[in-house]
Amino acid sequence: MDNIYCKYLLNSLSFHQDNVRFCTTLQLGELISKYEEKPKELAQKIINLRNKIKENIKNDVIPAGCKDCIYRLNEYCANDKINKIDLYYWYHCNCGCFYCTYRDETKGEFSDKIKEGNPLIYKTIKELYKYDVIDKQNLIINVGGGELGVLKEFSKLINLFIKNNVNMVYCESSGIRYSKAVENLLKKGKGHITVAVCTGSREVYKQIKKRDKYNQVMKNLNRYLKAASKFKSDIYNCDNVVSKLIILKGFNDKLEEVENWLLESKKCGLTQVELSMEFCWGTKTKSGQKIEDYNYEIFEYVKKRCVELGLKLKPNITSIALMENGFY
Ligand code: SF4
Ligand code: SF4
Repeated sequence: MDNIYCKYLLNSLSFHQDNVRFCTTLQLGELISKYEEKPKELAQKIINLRNKIKENIKNDVIPAGCKDCIYRLNEYCANDKINKIDLYYWYHCNCGCFYCTYRDETKGEFSDKIKEGNPLIYKTIKELYKYDVIDKQNLIINVGGGELGVLKEFSKLINLFIKNNVNMVYCESSGIRYSKAVENLLKKGKGHITVAVCTGSREVYKQIKKRDKYNQVMKNLNRYLKAASKFKSDIYNCDNVVSKLIILKGFNDKLEEVENWLLESKKCGLTQVELSMEFCWGTKTKSGQKIEDYNYEIFEYVKKRCVELGLKLKPNITSIALMENGFY
């Protein structure tokens, strides 16, 4: 029994474009459904499969999706309710980053039009809340995929989570369209937003993002900071608004460019920044390749300058792990 237990089996759910799965790691885990059911049926299916997994754990049966998993954890959780949900189920975006992982799906197209993602997901989560399978106070939500600002049901989802006293909603956003739902989360100390600005210059922004929206994005980050500062607690809530730089060779990999990004972040009022390597350009993965020296140099530089500028540097766990290993 001890050998097969993995907390991600029972504690997490990940909603993708074509399917929903147990497990929020890159290993993807057990498939639950390809969205053939109605919301009530899908919620029931999730509950039934969770019960089956619990039985399997007792009988030391390893689920097929977990057999070769390198992340398999042999640890028990005090609570086997769902405490982590990933919402990565749409690709529609208002930004045109040339390195986007979803370029195969979007063909590089983007627009400011607000579109529906998949209404089934909101309804299914609402159903799940009715059963005793969600650990409400500890629930962490990750919002990624396309852009939340052009996802029609985003506010509805956020209201549902707030109503049920969610612990924290981590959002990734292009920052182009200001979101009142994110503002609301920040004001309540329940939201965290990361915007990959990637530069401190309007020109470089245009080259990377294919949109002339640098000034607007910085203005929106400043508005989010104002919302975050309204939440009074011991925790400094402004740290929940983060500008990220993804190192993109030939675009922002010069130290002057990185310095400019840090100075502009500071000027905007940001208290925390994040630095990341780029893991693939579009669908071209770098898996197995040696990590280039410029990454190490930039990481060292940013670490030093953040201390000097009084900025916090949010650890990018994946970059750190890969750099220690030396290979993508
Ligand atoms: S064993 Fe691996 S694939 Fe299965 S739930 Fe855990 S992390 Fe995910
Ligand atoms: S903001 Fe994110 S989803 Fe949108 S194009 Fe850029 S990388 Fe892709």
